[in-house]
Amino acid sequence: MKILVPVKRVVDYNVKVRVKPDQTGVDLANVKMSMNPFCEIAVEEAIRLKEKGVATEIVVVSIGPAQAQETLRTALAMGADRGILVETDTTVEPLAVAKTLKAIAAEENPDIVLLGKQAIDDDANQTGQMLAALLDWPQGTFASEVAIADGKANVTREIDGGLQTVALELPAVITTDLRLNEPRYASLPNIMKAKRKPIDMKKPDDYGVDFTPRLEVVKVTEPAKREAGIKVADVAELVSKLKDEAGVI
Ligand code: AMP
Repeated sequence: MKILVPVKRVVDYNVKVRVKPDQTGVDLANVKMSMNPFCEIAVEEAIRLKEKGVATEIVVVSIGPAQAQETLRTALAMGADRGILVETDTTVEPLAVAKTLKAIAAEENPDIVLLGKQAIDDDANQTGQMLAALLDWPQGTFASEVAIADGKANVTREIDGGLQTVALELPAVITTDLRLNEPRYASLPNIMKAKRKPIDMKKPDDYGVDFTPRLEVVKVTEPAKREAGIKVADVAELVSKLKDEAGVI
């Protein structure tokens, strides 16, 4: 079984993002970039399926600037087998990513495409769903458990009211939720070994995909600043403020 894992290079989740003064986007100059956390969970799950003897090959793919090679190397150091970088400096939107992944799936014939449920930069939560639609494959989104049996993927999904389990015919698209697993850290020997694993360098034209953005960003703004709290002298003052000023009781 082959698993294709798309991994996105995004601003590290620990970074406090700054909006550019002209409000056209987020300032990426000198900002730490890392693998999108949900993609790390997808890589980890693929490796666990390989360790269980279910999967035989894990191919990781990233669409983005040349530096996204580092993201692929991280996935290779965790345990993926080889990488594909589709290099572009333009803004990549979920539809262009999904179309590229469709073309890669046609070449690679994976049994599962395992994506993150969402990228923490655009928060789109669209790519997996769009890919499933383009490929006309079944999809199991927001997975908190994945079990492969009898040629099917049983995916437990995190939904509003609790958990839902769906059985997907393979090939299928699965997207990962936070509770699926805790990704491992790559060991130093594995980081060294990953340097020798192959990464195929590609361009959007190799897949005939037009990356021209279809969305126009009108404005990006900081969230409203929280006002400082106040100290009250006693319970009576607290109750009076809640009643007369906040109007919540
Ligand atoms: P999104 O739909 O943008 O929230 O992203 C959901 C998932 O799609 C991510 O967790 C990745 O697995 C995949 N994905 C999105 N953009 C890219 C990209 N540029 N390169 C590789 N994978 C991506």
